[in-house]
Amino acid sequence: MSKKSKHGRSSVLPGSGRLRCHCGSPAILRSAEGLCRTHRPGAMAYVCSRYPACDSFVMAHPDTLEPMGSLAGSKLRRLRYEAHQQFNRLYESGLMSKKSAYLWLSVVVQAPMSHAHIGHLGDYYCQVVIDESRKLLQERMEQQNKLRKVSGGA
Ligand SMILES: [Zn+2]
Repeated sequence: MSKKSKHGRSSVLPGSGRLRCHCGSPAILRSAEGLCRTHRPGAMAYVCSRYPACDSFVMAHPDTLEPMGSLAGSKLRRLRYEAHQQFNRLYESGLMSKKSAYLWLSVVVQAPMSHAHIGHLGDYYCQVVIDESRKLLQERMEQQNKLRKVSGGA
C-alpha cells in the first residue's frame, strides 16, 4: 500500500474531534473492516466511540477521508441506501441529467445545492427522496411513452 500524501500540516485526521455521533459521543476514524461486508478493502469509516453499543457509523471518502455524511444507525443507513438507489435511477435512466437530478434533490430536501447530500439526510427526508424519486421517474416514463405514441402514430 502506498500513500500519495503525507500529513503535512498536522497529524490530526480530518473529522477527528469535530464529528460527533447523534448519541453525543465522538466519532473515531478507523478501518471499515467488519462493519459491513459491502465495503471495499482499505475503506475507512467514522465510527461511534461507543461502538458496538451504538452501531452508528459513516463511510469516509477514500481520497480525502472526509466523512460522507453524518453518522447513522442501521435503520437510517438502509434508508439512505434505498434513497440513493432510487435517486440514481433518475439520471441513470437517461430521463434527466445528473445536474438536473441534483437540482431537483435540493428542492425536495429543501436544502441549497451544496448541502443536498443523501448522506446528511434523516429518516424523514430519506423517505421523501425515495417516494418522490419513484413518482418523478414514473411521470417521466409516462410522458415519454405518450410522446412516443404521438410521434409514432403520425
Ligand atoms: Zn453513537
